[in-house]
Amino acid sequence: MIDFELTSEQQEGIKAAHESAKELFRPVSRYYDEHEHESPQELIDKMWERRGEGIFSMGLDVTSALRIEELCWGDAGLYLCIPGPALGGAAVFSSGTKEQLGRFLGGFNEGGPKWGAMAMTEPHAGSDTAAISATAVRDGDEWVLNGEKIFVTMGKRALENSDGFVVVWATVDKSAGRAGIKSFVVPAGTPGMRVEKLEKKLGIRASDTATIVFDNCRIPFDNILGSPEVKKTETRGFRGAMATFDATRPIIAAQAIGVGRAALDFVKETLESKGIKIRYGAPRQKLTALERDIMEMEANYKAAKLLTLRALWMMSQAQPNSLESSMAKTKAGLAVTKITQKAVEIMGPLGYSQKHLLEKWMRDGKINDIFEGTGQINMLVTARRVLNYSRDQLK
Ligand SMILES: Cc1cc2nc3c(=O)[nH]c(=O)nc-3n(C[C@H](O)[C@H](O)[C@H](O)COP(=O)(O)OP(=O)(O)OC[C@H]3O[C@@H](n4cnc5c(N)ncnc54)[C@H](O)[C@@H]3O)c2cc1C
Repeated sequence: MIDFELTSEQQEGIKAAHESAKELFRPVSRYYDEHEHESPQELIDKMWERRGEGIFSMGLDVTSALRIEELCWGDAGLYLCIPGPALGGAAVFSSGTKEQLGRFLGGFNEGGPKWGAMAMTEPHAGSDTAAISATAVRDGDEWVLNGEKIFVTMGKRALENSDGFVVVWATVDKSAGRAGIKSFVVPAGTPGMRVEKLEKKLGIRASDTATIVFDNCRIPFDNILGSPEVKKTETRGFRGAMATFDATRPIIAAQAIGVGRAALDFVKETLESKGIKIRYGAPRQKLTALERDIMEMEANYKAAKLLTLRALWMMSQAQPNSLESSMAKTKAGLAVTKITQKAVEIMGPLGYSQKHLLEKWMRDGKINDIFEGTGQINMLVTARRVLNYSRDQLK
């Protein structure tokens, strides 16, 4: 049964994360927005020092989502810079064996800051993941990887630090379609893997977004996540990718929620400072347009949050959560987009000016409606599940 009471451990985690967001993230938020590709080294070092406080070890659970909300309330781009296995870790976690979990993730928070990343998207394969054309060819006790991956979040950092890694999706058998697509862990420093370029972006500019090229990149055979066997009869798509999305989509939703709440808090505090109170509970016909807007923003924020917590809670109970993960991601991506845009609208020039961070949150928020499956794709996944349609029946 879902319990809405937060444990004392969760409350402490939220408090610690909120303090970091307020003291460390917010003061440098504008600077790193304006200095894209500059590493927030001081912040990384400070976050590394604080890793014992529970904010550092981001898992794939309700407690982590609550912390992530706080950190992204501070700054979503800087949150992505915190050392950790990130989406690459989620891929290992959801498809790796016990031995691989120990090998790739054990001790990740020791010895010095390092990062993980996940590389699925290619120039002609984004939403259509089945079009992945990077290849993995077995050669004795190695795999040889070739191809180009784009838009890899924290790709540069994952490659720069020893012990970092990238999880790469590639096909071992093109004729098998989806069933031939597998994921592989490529440790930082592996010859044949290089960062080709960094994107300049609308938002989350503190986080690097890299193009990574694999040119005859050799990795050990047992770096494949999941079975190397290709089951051509597999109709439900490549399970590893789906299992990864089930884990990562609610985490992205938690990031969205944090940015949305930052905008909501800003609007409410500004209105309050001008003596404008929101009359909760007033009859609907007596509400002002402003009050209705604020209440709608809050309702969207809360609905997204509850869906997110549910998806993660189900995962921690080992319950299938594909539907709930996609629902949470769809709602949260949409909610943050609506909330931040409405906040800018309500605040007018205050929202548009760079004097405040609100315009930045509007830019930062939008990515949550794009990566880990766009809003449209997650809506499609949700519709298929609710209506019990196959991938071919509902495109
Ligand atoms: C800042 C940033 C960071 C990223 N980080 C990562 C990362 O770490 N790892 C990674 O692998 N990828 C990452 N991505 C890539 C991201 O996941 C893809 O951009 C996303 O999945 C969309 O794919 P696409 O770019 O090919 O767009 P398209 O698939 O070409 O989509 C374009 C538009 O068409 C819509 N569309 C596509 N198909 C359908 C359909 N069947 N029905 C309805 N609408 C549809 C989409 O919703 C979208 O609005 C990142 C992207 C960005 C911008």
